[in-house]
Amino acid sequence: MAAPNKPTLTPAKTHKVKIIEVNQETHNVRSFRFSYPQGFEYKPGQFIMITLNVVQDGIPKLIKRSYSLSSAPTQEKHIETIVKLMGLGSKRLFEHMKGDELEITGPYGMFTFQENLSNEVHGRKLNHIVLLAAGSGITAPLSIVRYILDSRLALKVSLIFSNKTGHDIIARKELERLAAEHDNFSLYLTVTRPEEDPDWHGLSGRMDEKLIKAAVHDIADGLFYLCGPAEFVARKPILTIKDMSGLKIAIS
Ligand SMILES: Cc1cc2nc3c(=O)[nH]c(=O)nc-3n(C[C@H](O)[C@H](O)[C@H](O)COP(=O)(O)OP(=O)(O)OC[C@H]3O[C@@H](n4cnc5c(N)ncnc54)[C@H](O)[C@@H]3O)c2cc1C
Repeated sequence: MAAPNKPTLTPAKTHKVKIIEVNQETHNVRSFRFSYPQGFEYKPGQFIMITLNVVQDGIPKLIKRSYSLSSAPTQEKHIETIVKLMGLGSKRLFEHMKGDELEITGPYGMFTFQENLSNEVHGRKLNHIVLLAAGSGITAPLSIVRYILDSRLALKVSLIFSNKTGHDIIARKELERLAAEHDNFSLYLTVTRPEEDPDWHGLSGRMDEKLIKAAVHDIADGLFYLCGPAEFVARKPILTIKDMSGLKIAIS
């Protein structure tokens, strides 16, 4: 039997998976759905490594890149990740299409949501999961949202999601639909460059204490997950908020 309060994580293994769907999420972001690897078990928030064959300086080689899973373990037909086009690895991945086979290893990572463990801080149950995400850092929080809602857990979940413009919001339609369908899910979208998006009529400005406190009234009952690029997760206005009970941070 697992020791209490120790995460029960499955060891990483190598799997061959087939790409079963590719979707253009924004101008530079795609989601990739893979066939469900046999015997693969993961927790929301974990990541996989994808092996990619690239040519660098004229020399063919294999590289590995880490990608968080955006699917939830409740989705039994596929696993999914969402990738932003950046350099060598992501460019190679973007060349792959439906039907292609890739090698992945995983799952990895301790940034996990586990309903019986993570919502307990200092022996106190926290029933409000607060996810703070920016840009492609949405991958792991999306897995957590999908999992909590799919599993009908008796938890409140709030997602505060910052992007440059409305056009950069990954999975926007699904998130808005889930917020409309589930009373226990609240979605707050903010954009940092509203001047570049005349169609945007929502919140604007960087994520800071004022925005977080306006969205989350019961700060002391929240378990916070912070996920995004390094410059986002290191921002003092978020890290120094008083009364935040638990804080898990992941850099994407
Ligand atoms: C745990 C974990 C989870 C992650 N999850 C995700 C995820 O869900 N989604 C996601 O999109 N990413 C994720 N990442 C990041 C991902 O692993 C890769 O680092 C990312 O895709 C960039 O890899 P790349 O090979 O495309 O870029 P690289 O070639 O490694 O380049 C990285 C950066 O350097 C820049 N660069 C490249 N070449 C040059 C050059 N010659 N001169 C100057 N700059 C250069 C690129 O523009 C880019 O900004 C995650 C990382 C970790 C550690």
